[in-house]
Amino acid sequence: MICAAAGNNLDQVWDVLIVGAGIAGAMAACRAAQMGLSVLFIDKAAFPRGKACGCCLNQAAVGLLNDAGLDVGTLGAIPVDRFEFACGGATVKIPTPAGMAVSREILDVALIRHAQKAGAVFMSGTAALSTEAFPDYRVVGARQNGMATSLRARVVLVADGLGGRLLSESGGVQIAARSRVGLAGTLEKATNLYAPGIIYMACGKRGYAGLVRVENGRLHIAAALDTCAARQASGAGNAVAEIIRESGLPVPEGLAICRWHGAPALTRRRKTLFDQRLFIIGDAAGYVEPFSGEGMAWALASANCVLPLVARCVKAWQPELGRQWELQHRELIGSRQRTCRAVTLLLRNQGLTRVAVEALKLSPTLATPLVRRINRPFVLA
Ligand SMILES: Cc1cc2nc3c(=O)[nH]c(=O)nc-3n(C[C@H](O)[C@H](O)[C@H](O)COP(=O)(O)OP(=O)(O)OC[C@H]3O[C@@H](n4cnc5c(N)ncnc54)[C@H](O)[C@@H]3O)c2cc1C
Repeated sequence: MICAAAGNNLDQVWDVLIVGAGIAGAMAACRAAQMGLSVLFIDKAAFPRGKACGCCLNQAAVGLLNDAGLDVGTLGAIPVDRFEFACGGATVKIPTPAGMAVSREILDVALIRHAQKAGAVFMSGTAALSTEAFPDYRVVGARQNGMATSLRARVVLVADGLGGRLLSESGGVQIAARSRVGLAGTLEKATNLYAPGIIYMACGKRGYAGLVRVENGRLHIAAALDTCAARQASGAGNAVAEIIRESGLPVPEGLAICRWHGAPALTRRRKTLFDQRLFIIGDAAGYVEPFSGEGMAWALASANCVLPLVARCVKAWQPELGRQWELQHRELIGSRQRTCRAVTLLLRNQGLTRVAVEALKLSPTLATPLVRRINRPFVLA
């Protein structure tokens, strides 16, 4: 259990205040503290907390965590080097560059602790409710254990994820038509039908589900589903079981009693990624369906990339910094999200997906350019 900050002067004006301690927020806190800035990061949740995610870090994500000094291998993460795709009873195996599978309960706590070690101050159970700009700082109104509090910082980073509502009043979020919703859960005991080191991807008419072994042999399952499939099935477990069955993969026991975490409409973009003395990072800045398992890499890269602008903003705010952030975000993440979106649109057409599977069975190397593109390292400006 990670505890709230104690003994710190919360009345001070922090250099950076980060809302959300998921992957993006905790990485930003770690990097900002490593740069010598004073950092407070807050999260409404108590950690460890569950989160709808597939728990697969691709090679680029593992590299970004390593660069920040966090070795995921020490967390009991399982190395992953193969992707097995199943659709309508046909399967194809595709080698992937070495990634890691680790639950978000373990990973997020490790990254928060790493940021704390670097000097960042963390407050859990603290929900940001509002934010207002003043010439020299921003104020964030928050609630901790039922008590209202007011926090001040020269720069605010909003990393409140897909479900974040801190900036909802300012609008600007566009949700894609027919966007799917997310689900994830972990089976503590699962049959040996699913081997460690492989991401099994089951594709059905109304969505897809990924299955992977995480630490301690637990089987983690994450799915993206059409909203109607999620509503019509009698329970999340049944909706996921239907997709796995349809793909031809074996349905693990216990899906109906598994504890599921949900995620709202997945494919969305935000029109503006900044405000005065405020930048938006991670999923809060825009997201697409997670088929290619890159979301955490995007979140980590956005946290790294915004920091040079944050350091300049600590000295003085200029709207130009915000515009630069939008440009950099589009260059760094936008092109990758477009690739991922193209793949997920193809997967909605069962006929085309079957053709792709048959072609890949004949020649698995056809997938190499896409696999390389997804895993390419981030070149930060
Ligand atoms: C079904 C599914 C499967 C996925 N599979 C993968 C995968 O296999 N690999 C991969 O790389 N990515 C995957 N992703 C994507 C990945 O989970 C996200 O991209 C990543 O978690 C984004 O990190 P983040 O820090 O932006 O947001 P989050 O991790 O969601 O963190 C946001 C944090 O903000 C906090 N918060 C929200 N509002 C407030 C507030 N008002 N005040 C304080 N705190 C607040 C929340 O409690 C939360 O802790 C998947 C996503 C889904 C939905």
